Amino acid sequence: MPSDTIREDLAFFRDLGVTDVFLTPRASAAPAPVAGSFSDLPALQEFLAGCPRCKLSKTRTNIVFGQGSPKADLMFVGEAPGRDEDEQGLAFVGRAGQLLTKIIEAIGMKREDVWICNVLKCRPPNNRNPEPDEVASCMPFLEEQIRLISPKVIVTLGTFAAQAILETDEPIGRMRGHWRTARGVRVMPTFHPAFLLRSPERKKDVWEDMKLVRDYLASP
Ligand code: URA
Repeated sequence: MPSDTIREDLAFFRDLGVTDVFLTPRASAAPAPVAGSFSDLPALQEFLAGCPRCKLSKTRTNIVFGQGSPKADLMFVGEAPGRDEDEQGLAFVGRAGQLLTKIIEAIGMKREDVWICNVLKCRPPNNRNPEPDEVASCMPFLEEQIRLISPKVIVTLGTFAAQAILETDEPIGRMRGHWRTARGVRVMPTFHPAFLLRSPERKKDVWEDMKLVRDYLASP
């Protein structure tokens, strides 16, 4: 807002008898990333640095941008950083992350070959579910990551990532194992590795989903 307008508004309120003005920091004061305006991932990461765009900025330790190959054919998208990720600033480094490493290796790849990130770049307190305003603030960063990496396949991990990327409220049990498309990229929804730690009998489902991914990536 131009300073002349602010001055006029303050004079107007003073004439009304207002004596106190309270200023609150506005998260929206930080601009959203403009789609298509970043030349590479480091530029996007720099723009995200110190992000104040939602209330998670007050409780996080580190922003978790994501890591791996910027030229990856395969991108994994989880929900949000957990405690280990928040502490280290890296995606999927806790117990669920160790299982994700095994899933990646099972299809003959390494973590460094793929891109690993989350819908939310900051940890929700006590790992609570992401809230709509947090998703709205963070989604443009994921969309830019998808545009810049341009993977052949996105594997969404768990209910939340699948529903956010595919803009649906379908349950993961119905979506998993079926190819979808989002933003021109093939998407394979599968279960979250944290769910597999609680329900190891569902690992075979993820293996079926990952074989579809492996075969698609190997096809000419
Ligand atoms: N769970 C997620 O969804 N993402 C992480 O990075 C870690 C655990």
